[in-house]
Amino acid sequence: MSDEDKDGSGGRSGRGRHGKTAPEGQPWRREGNPGPARPDDGSAAHLALLAPLGLEGVIDAHCHWFPDNVTEKIWEYFSRHYWPVTYHCSGGERLRWLRQNRVDGFTTLNYAHRPGMASWLNRWTAQWAGDTPGAILTGTFYPEEGVGEYVEEAIGRLGMRGFKLHLRVSAFDPACAELTPAFERVQEAGLPVVIHCGSAPDPSRFNEPGAADRLLKRYPRLKLVVAHMGAWEWEHYLGLAERFEHVYLDTTMVFVDFPACGRFPGQLLGRLEGLSAKILFGSDFPNIPYPLSHAVESVVSLPLSAEARRGILYGNAIRLFGLDVSGGKP
Ligand SMILES: [Zn+2]
Repeated sequence: MSDEDKDGSGGRSGRGRHGKTAPEGQPWRREGNPGPARPDDGSAAHLALLAPLGLEGVIDAHCHWFPDNVTEKIWEYFSRHYWPVTYHCSGGERLRWLRQNRVDGFTTLNYAHRPGMASWLNRWTAQWAGDTPGAILTGTFYPEEGVGEYVEEAIGRLGMRGFKLHLRVSAFDPACAELTPAFERVQEAGLPVVIHCGSAPDPSRFNEPGAADRLLKRYPRLKLVVAHMGAWEWEHYLGLAERFEHVYLDTTMVFVDFPACGRFPGQLLGRLEGLSAKILFGSDFPNIPYPLSHAVESVVSLPLSAEARRGILYGNAIRLFGLDVSGGKP
C-alpha cells in the first residue's frame, strides 16, 4: 500500500486517476455546494406509510456508531469534503432521534483506517452496545498481526453479529493473505460482512468491483452485504447477488433524492423483487444530509410487493443478524 493511500483520504486524491467520476457530476461535494442539511422536524412522517405494510418501525442495517472523538473527526471530514450532517449532535440526542423515528434495531458499523485500531474499536463498541437497547453489535478487522485472535474474540467473547469493512477508507484488498484467518473464521461462523466495495461516492483503486469477486472466489460461503447496492457499479453487484446465494445488498443512500450514490438505473428496478429477500434497508445514520424519514420513505415507495418491502425494512435484517424478537422488538 502506498503512503498516498494510507493518509486517511483513502485514495481520494486519486479520483480521476481511476478514470471514474460520479454519473451526475459531484454536486454532493462540499465544494459543489450541496446546500444545508435538511433538519428532522420530528414528525416521523414515514410511520404512516409503514402502517399499511403492518410495520410499526424499521431495522437499520447500515448505521454507524464510533466513539465521540472519532465521530467528531468523521464529521469534520464530511463538513470539509462531503455534505453537512443532519444528525450532528450528541450521542444521547442521536439515540433519541433513532427512537423517535422508530428504528427498532440499528447496526453499529465502524471500521479502522490504520493498524492497531480495530481491536480496541471492537471492545469499545461491544461495551457501548451492551448498554444500548436496539444496538446490533458489529465489529471490524484490518490486515495486521493478531487479526485472527481479535476476530475470534469478537465472535466468541464479544458476541458480534457481523462485521464492516470500508475498502476505500481502510485502503486494502480484502482478499489479501493477512486476512485469511479472519475471513475463514467469519465464514465458518456464518456472520455477515457489510462491505463498502462500490466506487461511490469516492473511487479509488481499492473499491473496484474485482475486490468482492476475488473475496467470493476464496470464500464462496461468506455472507457479504454490499453497501449502497454497490453504487456506482449497480449492475455488477446485482449480478453478484443473483449468482451467489449469500450476497446481500443494502439500500443505503440509494433511492433518496440526494445524489451521493447517483440515480439507481430505472431499467434495473425490475430485478429487485427477485432479490428482495436479500436486500436490507440502510440509512447511513447519522452521517446523512436529510432526515431518516426521507430514507425510509424512499424505500417504502419502491415498486415492489408489500412482502418484499416488509422484508427489506424489517424481516431480512432480523434473519441475517439472528436477532431475537421474542419480546416484540430486537
Ligand atoms: Zn456508511
